[in-house]
Amino acid sequence: MLKNKIDDVLYLVEKPSRYIGDEINSIRKDIRKDLIRFGFCFPDVYEVGMSHLGSHIIYGALNEVEDVYCERVYMPWIDLEQKMRERDIPLFTTETRTDIADLDMLGFTLQYELSYTNILNMMDLSNIPFKSADRTEEHPIIMAGGPCAYNPEPLAEIVDFFSLGEGEEVLVEVMDLYREKKENNWTKDEFLSRLASMDGIYVPKFYAVSYNEDKTIKSFGPVDEQYPKTIQKRIIEDMNKAYYPTHFVVPYTDVVHDRAMVEIFRGCTRGCRFCQAGMIYRPIREKSKEVIVETAQKIIAATGYEELSLTSLSTLDHTDIKDTIIELIKKNTKDVVGVSLPSLRVDDLAVEVLQEIQKIRKTGLTFAPEAGTQRMRDVINKGVAEEDLEKTLSQVFNLGWSRVKLYFMIGLPTETLEDLEGIDTLGNKSTWLYKQVPAENRKGSVAVTLSTACFVPKPFTPFQWFKQNSIEEFREKQFYLKDKIKNKKVKFNYHDAHTSVLEGAFARGDRRLADVIIKAYELGCKFDGWQEHFKYDKWMEAFEACGIDPDFYTRERSFDEILPWDHIDVGVKKEFLIKEYENAVNGVVTEDCRDKCVGCGINIDLIGREC
Ligand code: SF4
Repeated sequence: MLKNKIDDVLYLVEKPSRYIGDEINSIRKDIRKDLIRFGFCFPDVYEVGMSHLGSHIIYGALNEVEDVYCERVYMPWIDLEQKMRERDIPLFTTETRTDIADLDMLGFTLQYELSYTNILNMMDLSNIPFKSADRTEEHPIIMAGGPCAYNPEPLAEIVDFFSLGEGEEVLVEVMDLYREKKENNWTKDEFLSRLASMDGIYVPKFYAVSYNEDKTIKSFGPVDEQYPKTIQKRIIEDMNKAYYPTHFVVPYTDVVHDRAMVEIFRGCTRGCRFCQAGMIYRPIREKSKEVIVETAQKIIAATGYEELSLTSLSTLDHTDIKDTIIELIKKNTKDVVGVSLPSLRVDDLAVEVLQEIQKIRKTGLTFAPEAGTQRMRDVINKGVAEEDLEKTLSQVFNLGWSRVKLYFMIGLPTETLEDLEGIDTLGNKSTWLYKQVPAENRKGSVAVTLSTACFVPKPFTPFQWFKQNSIEEFREKQFYLKDKIKNKKVKFNYHDAHTSVLEGAFARGDRRLADVIIKAYELGCKFDGWQEHFKYDKWMEAFEACGIDPDFYTRERSFDEILPWDHIDVGVKKEFLIKEYENAVNGVVTEDCRDKCVGCGINIDLIGREC
């Protein structure tokens, strides 16, 4: 019945292939059997969700379990949602068109703070109450994971439990416990209470918080000593043995990243002080060249993809990357499968690898110096020297590239006008370097894009205590640069400061923000990550209605203040982050710890061995 109602509206909306399912490699199970029904919910549209590697990994890992059926759920676009509300069609799974309210558990991946209203919208479409306290045994259990779960507090009253760290193993353990729940007729609370003792699982209802007069946190802790004081993240120890999908679901419609994705390692040792991923995904765990090549060949065979992306936080840091790429290119030249890399670091290896890659296909080039001056690059510990950047740009221009994109951030701690001017200088230097290339090597006219994001301080980084720039400060700097950059060959892009400041409030927010999210949703906020749908005024109205000042969450913090995420343990010690904060202020660089440990603590606290 639901299937027919859905089919009746699909020809009335954009991109119906977002909703039809049955793609190559999508998984079918017999739902008449006694299965644990899990909905993997991506709080954005199909094209974005299908490009998210983590979704494919969890989808495959859970469906490897015979009596678990993991189905995908995406946020419907505006046009279909309108039809759904008009015709009372609830939100449905992609595989079997099942109302998500009929599933046992819903898992939301938290990739971006501004996706929170989409979570509410997906629940609302199936009449699932927003707050845990308002849901009964009849409603699915709501869980969440992903990078934003490292500060789970803004969603603590909405989500029943959070999975911290890598989900491949812990979610299977959660399914095992849920099977026991069904067999023993436990109530939801009995299940959650047992779950709260599982490593890597945080159940907010068993933790209480109190506040000081000045609104800072006074105390935070478990309501009963049977629950752990801190929740430690889970990691996959051996990436060569870990589950990894080879039969990726191949979408019928174009998606953001439409290519074969092979994850080659997790973690990063570069220690950039603004980068949350570089801290929360430690330690480094590599896959061997053999495993990477074998996985890649299996994925290409099962999907027919013509492009292969080697993914990680810093792909060229893999100890065997050059030989791996050479072998992949050798194996795939005849099928013209291109190899692409995420943003590149600036050094010789990058150029050597590019020479290999361009044998099949020349792709756009992106470098991320992040800051315009050496002083600021040292403050953020980016570890990129100006001369390295110049040398690499000359080399790639001589190899025939003429288009480069350079990524920067503005609003960084200790930033000066000189640092901003440095961004313009690098743009001019890039076009000048191109002119130095012998004419026979040049391919058309040079095009340099300077793309600037607004810096957002994130939990578990040395910068988690810094004040974030206000919207006015960001805009002043953006307009300053806009006036400054006069070079016709240089294009200047900048992000909207309003979304960045709101993102900043939720990134370092606490439980009191749950009501703000609900109020904002009720005022019509959703798809906040899409500029054309972002309603900043409604958000400010929601904050006001809840009597909360968003600036309270983007302000500077003292080292002794209790932070909303202090009960989460990622293995990196707070003392280490404070030391790195001080190194930043003093412009002191910390070396990459691949060569020599710099004492972040994860080897002692989390893995109990050398990294
Ligand atoms: S423990 Fe040492 S080597 Fe390991 S990630 Fe931390 S700083 Fe690097």
